[in-house]
Amino acid sequence: MIRVGINGYGTIGKRVAAAVRAQPDMEVVGVAKTRPNHEAATAVDSGFDLYAAVEERRSRFAEAGIDLAGGVEQLVEVSDIVVDGCPSGIGAENVPMYRKHDTPALLQGGEDAAAVDSSFVARANYDTVEGAEVVRVVSCNTTGLSRLVAPLRETYGIEKARVTLVRRGGDPAQSGRGPINDILPNPVSLPSHHGPDVNTIYPDLDIDTLGLKVPATLMHTHSVNLTLESSPDAEAVRELLEGERRLFVVPEWLDIDGAGALKEFAGDAGRPRGDIWENCVWGESITVEGRDLYLFQAVHQEADVVPENVDAIRAVLGTATAEESIRTTNEAIGLDKGLAPSPR
Ligand code: NAD
Repeated sequence: MIRVGINGYGTIGKRVAAAVRAQPDMEVVGVAKTRPNHEAATAVDSGFDLYAAVEERRSRFAEAGIDLAGGVEQLVEVSDIVVDGCPSGIGAENVPMYRKHDTPALLQGGEDAAAVDSSFVARANYDTVEGAEVVRVVSCNTTGLSRLVAPLRETYGIEKARVTLVRRGGDPAQSGRGPINDILPNPVSLPSHHGPDVNTIYPDLDIDTLGLKVPATLMHTHSVNLTLESSPDAEAVRELLEGERRLFVVPEWLDIDGAGALKEFAGDAGRPRGDIWENCVWGESITVEGRDLYLFQAVHQEADVVPENVDAIRAVLGTATAEESIRTTNEAIGLDKGLAPSPR
């Protein structure tokens, strides 16, 4: 069993912990928290050993009646690999600790690409990270774009990608984020950071991205235009995307008009926390004009990177091929069942 430590048990960390625990070849050896809060309470309730991320705050756990298994350095020491789910910037600060213990680590998309040996999306570059010490599982948006680009690039070639990202203002629990009544070009100057970030996965992809932020918490929505190197018909593109394990081509008959209905559907389908691990591409939106492909897709920011973290564990440790890992991860968390009857 691969012993996985989770340092930072928030939005991403707690989801990755649950996904790791579901795998047949992995166990969660513990999770590190900075303070006793509702997430620490659910970690304890889930049976995870809890470690103090900050030594000086150990007494606060005792005051809350929570037993600790040790400090974060002990967690790093007993782990074969650590998933760092700390807030942006803290992951990079933790790198010397991981290196000191010779424990490979996965950072998240809020970290700078320069802080890591390699960036990762399972569908795109699984084979490139074996043996790496510090790998970044890229952001939700970069993951969503790379997954979409992968089959289209391989099958048709992409001359130029142009994407407008309509981004949620914050996650549901981020009460301090906004806007609450505005539509913000964000950043107002071009390009947004997303295109360059996709280039950490596909360095030679010609991609321009524009970003907006809106008063929503549910998902991000991407308006995509790809100029291909050939002219497939829309039906062929649709079939190609339907064949991808982490793309869900939303059929028209579901009558899903936006992120609200998608999240409702995922919750009704029994997904934990209503999580949607796959990109959701509206089937009706897939349109080809000459060599220009257009479509809309939504990505659930809190969830799409979760299976990627699980795959990155096997990729870094070299315990499975990409195909084996993606299949195992999907089966273990229930992604392979899909959200709706589909041609898969
Ligand atoms: P979060 O704030 O929900 O969770 C971070 C957790 O780390 C919190 O529980 C916090 O208490 C804890 N923490 C803070 N300092 C710590 C420290 N020194 N040691 C250990 N734990 C510490 O953040 P998040 O949304 O889960 O984001 C984590 C990373 O994932 C960021 O890089 C972010 O950019 C990336 N990411 C977030 C999303 C998203 O939509 N939330 C999507 C993809 C990637």
